[in-house]
Amino acid sequence: MDLKSKLRHVMGFPKEGIDFIDITTVLQDPEAFRCCMDAFEELADSMENFDIIVGSESRGFIFGAPLACKMGKGFVPVRKRGKLPYKTISAEYDLEYGKDVLEIHADAVKPGQKVLIVDDLLATGGTAEANIKLVEQLGGKVVGLVYFIELSMLKGREKLKEYKVNSIVTF
Ligand code: AMP
Repeated sequence: MDLKSKLRHVMGFPKEGIDFIDITTVLQDPEAFRCCMDAFEELADSMENFDIIVGSESRGFIFGAPLACKMGKGFVPVRKRGKLPYKTISAEYDLEYGKDVLEIHADAVKPGQKVLIVDDLLATGGTAEANIKLVEQLGGKVVGLVYFIELSMLKGREKLKEYKVNSIVTF
């Protein structure tokens, strides 16, 4: 299936100059969603074996949690500041359109655990770097990062040179 053609482009959201890629058109199409999750599994399978999937708020949850369940792995949510109830550690990051802080539960990744990071889209790589920082601060080993969409013009991959990065579709 041509998943690229199932994505909706919303120009000027959330601000002028941004070509926002809307994944909801894939999610609401059962065949496309299934095909997307199968493609995620294939890419995840091509990585070194891992113990858990880390996905960040909020679109990282949409793909990360079902992928973890499908592959028999645990899922760890990374959230915006102040949302997680237990003890956390945090990392600041830059977005294509802003700045924010991400947090993870301090006991969510055990030292030596192998982690796959899953998200909807790789743009500048700022979110990815923050996720990596959080996992590594807890002693986890990032085996790779898997995305539905990669915006190659924004060169996120260059920030992640030391890691294996796979994406289903590239613009
Ligand atoms: P970045 O940290 O720059 O790699 O941005 C990654 C996050 O921002 C992704 O998880 C997306 O959810 C969101 N994002 C950035 N740019 C876009 C875009 N053009 N369309 C849709 N989502 C985007």
